[in-house]
Amino acid sequence: MSDILRQLQLTGDLSGVRRADGFMDRPGGAAHVVTCPSTGEILARVHGASLEDLEHVVDDASRAFERFRLEPAPRRGELVRLLGQALRERKDALGRLVSLETGKILSEGLGEVQEMIDMADLACGMSRQLYGASMHSERPQHRMYEQWHPLGPVAVISAFNFPVAVWAWNAFVAAACGDSVIWKPSEKTPLTAIAVTRLCAEVATAMGHPGLFTLAVGGAEVGAALAADARIPLVSATGSCAMGRKVGQVVAHRMGRTLLELGGNNAVVVLDDADLDLATRAITFAAVGTAGQRCTTTRRVLAQEGVAEDLLSRLQRAWKSVPIGDPLEAGTLMGPLIDAHAVETYRRVIERVPKEGGEIVHGGRVLERAGCFVEPTLVRARKDMPLLVEENFVPVLYVVAVKDLAEAIALNNDVPQGLSSAIFTNSVRSAERFLAAAGSDCGIANVNIGTSGAEIGGAFGGEKETGGGREAGSDAWKAYMRRQTCTINWGADLPLAQGVRFDV
Ligand code: NAD
Repeated sequence: MSDILRQLQLTGDLSGVRRADGFMDRPGGAAHVVTCPSTGEILARVHGASLEDLEHVVDDASRAFERFRLEPAPRRGELVRLLGQALRERKDALGRLVSLETGKILSEGLGEVQEMIDMADLACGMSRQLYGASMHSERPQHRMYEQWHPLGPVAVISAFNFPVAVWAWNAFVAAACGDSVIWKPSEKTPLTAIAVTRLCAEVATAMGHPGLFTLAVGGAEVGAALAADARIPLVSATGSCAMGRKVGQVVAHRMGRTLLELGGNNAVVVLDDADLDLATRAITFAAVGTAGQRCTTTRRVLAQEGVAEDLLSRLQRAWKSVPIGDPLEAGTLMGPLIDAHAVETYRRVIERVPKEGGEIVHGGRVLERAGCFVEPTLVRARKDMPLLVEENFVPVLYVVAVKDLAEAIALNNDVPQGLSSAIFTNSVRSAERFLAAAGSDCGIANVNIGTSGAEIGGAFGGEKETGGGREAGSDAWKAYMRRQTCTINWGADLPLAQGVRFDV
């Protein structure tokens, strides 16, 4: 453990505030004690930003934007390419740090850094493809087109469960688009944020843009101050629906833009004709992986009556064999929850299951060992359990028997959140019905793969209380730029649109 921290120079008291001229010596905000979720040991103390520090951070990011927006987009892409290069060189150390700080298993920690690298490649390519449309003017000798300009400093508020990848989804695309980035990471995972900021700010500084990536560690009050700051045209916030509701209102009040990536309550539909082996493996990864702490974690299985019990027994067998333990150890498939608060949530959920008519068929216990370990839990559930419409960020999976596809789709959609969904079937008709306009209402809909583990090439995000934002690939870059429609008259007359006449 201490090896990783020493290697990355993350021991003792650390500054969690980076301005254009480097990390502040003595930030004035609260000190955050970072605890290892696997052992309960204290890893470091991070001094966060006071509201006065934050003023300076936003000033620096605004000044950095003034200069950075003048760089040609492909040169901005080159900067992002170099970020990917720097991350490749540090992938192992950073991946181990992600595991240490969040408790996710090493292959997922490394995968998270790989996702940053992939994002850098994608954003570098995007920098040469920020296309605007051209359209035919109705007026003679006129030309019309749209162009996309950099937007301004972008605030990125991130959650604990993807402590660095989600920042990269935002920051690398934002940088390719010509924006500077102010990062407010989760106060539960500031170490990964410090390590990544050091690396990325160094690359940006070497290319003449020292204030491009700034950092302000802090709690909700720092996030709220960023949301209220009119100098920031876009606030991208990832976290719970409750947080998004607050941030959304504050930013809307000042007519700013938000990109909200909030909670999910993701279901997998399994029909009678499904490949149950495939479904069992996919559901196990999507429900147990990351200890049930992904926004895309499968929380509900809607299984057709003909296979529901068989699927439940297969899941039970698979879950019995999941090795729980030190996330950095080879062979472990499930690490701890993030903190004691999450363990409390787990206990409360487990207590509610029988009261609401559910039956625990596997798991349900907090493990008696150091750290925040719990058993993944499988519940034979009733359709009307209030727990089914909530996102509790713990590894509890509800299996519900349904009559047919129509009922499965109705239940899939009958929750406030709308992030990810999947169907297991060998029928093209059923699969297409699930994907059609009256099918799943989620931002992500998959066939014969689980709800989690999205690739960066597509636009990622969800509907309803999940917030409606889209990040990463496809045309998600448009959120980070401002669109300008231009009409150029290259003739000597002044015809007006819609045939209006105004002769003077
Ligand atoms: P959280 O809402 O507790 O915190 C997320 C971030 O918001 C943190 O940085 C926190 O300090 C900040 N914050 C909290 N209150 C705020 C306020 N009033 N104003 C501004 N900032 C505020 O979430 P968490 O526990 O860190 O993460 C888990 C949640 O995140 C789950 O609901 C999960 O589904 C969601 N999540 C969503 C996605 C997605 O892409 N849709 C990705 C990852 C996580």
